[in-house]
Amino acid sequence: MTGTERDDPLYARLVAYEGRSAATAGTGKDPVNPAMIRHWCEAMGDEHPAYRGPDAVAPPTMLQAWTMGGLSGHTDRSGAYEELSALLDGAGYTSVVATDCEQEYLRPLRPGDEITFDAVIESVSPRKTTRLGTGHFVTTRMDVRAAGELAGTHRFRILKYAPAARPAGPAPGSRDERPKARRPRPVVNRDNAGFWEGVAAHRLLVQRCTACATLRFPWLPGCAECGSRAWDTVEASGAGTVFSYVVMHHPSFPAFDPPYAVGLVELAEGVRMVSNVVGVPYDKVRIGMPVRLEFLRVDEELELPVFRAGGED
Ligand code: ZN
Repeated sequence: MTGTERDDPLYARLVAYEGRSAATAGTGKDPVNPAMIRHWCEAMGDEHPAYRGPDAVAPPTMLQAWTMGGLSGHTDRSGAYEELSALLDGAGYTSVVATDCEQEYLRPLRPGDEITFDAVIESVSPRKTTRLGTGHFVTTRMDVRAAGELAGTHRFRILKYAPAARPAGPAPGSRDERPKARRPRPVVNRDNAGFWEGVAAHRLLVQRCTACATLRFPWLPGCAECGSRAWDTVEASGAGTVFSYVVMHHPSFPAFDPPYAVGLVELAEGVRMVSNVVGVPYDKVRIGMPVRLEFLRVDEELELPVFRAGGED
């Protein structure tokens, strides 16, 4: 914390909310039950056998679902969260965006488990300036229990902020006088870092489950077929075909010049990826068109795998 933040009287009032309850002894409206599990699995397209039958468990990612109040809501919320929110509103941080959530699972939930939960305001950050504007991150932690035993935690973070003033734009029609915006950066995390390392080495790497040999793309921590988290990679040959495509006209994004074609390319190995189809006008892209991988140097720090039309050897 810097001296300025320590002396910030608002921040001193905000941190006083750390550790205060956001919901005490909430009770799940329904016990863990097969109907909700089935609806969730159908919505997610998750056919894993662990979620069916007499020994079914609930998908771990349903953790928060068991605590939700539905349309009628919960009546047992504490006022601390609303007070904190009002304090931020009053200081001009009137906008809100959910930034991320993290879950930890300690024990499986099974049909019949009665759910209780407590939520606490875990932390309020010092004032931060982001591209959206300046404000404070507020992290809430919910402990979810079954029969009194901690089953998992759900951390939820928002940014309450004052929107940044929009830079004065050029007059309508003078778009080309603006410096060209850079393409958005990929989000690289521990689950997909290997993919981007491959791209840097001009290799398109596809994950392969070492338990059942199923290929998958995009990169994920586990196999959707068998649930195994063990994997290695295979390098794509670079051959593919356009499986589907759309032509983007609107909305325009500063880094792109519409219209342009976005292709869903099926690699020779069988997985599909979204990319650009290059070397052909946007209105000449066709389903079934053969394409070949190449690496496009976008700017000094970004390279992307793209597909050139007419790429059959
Ligand atoms: Zn597998």
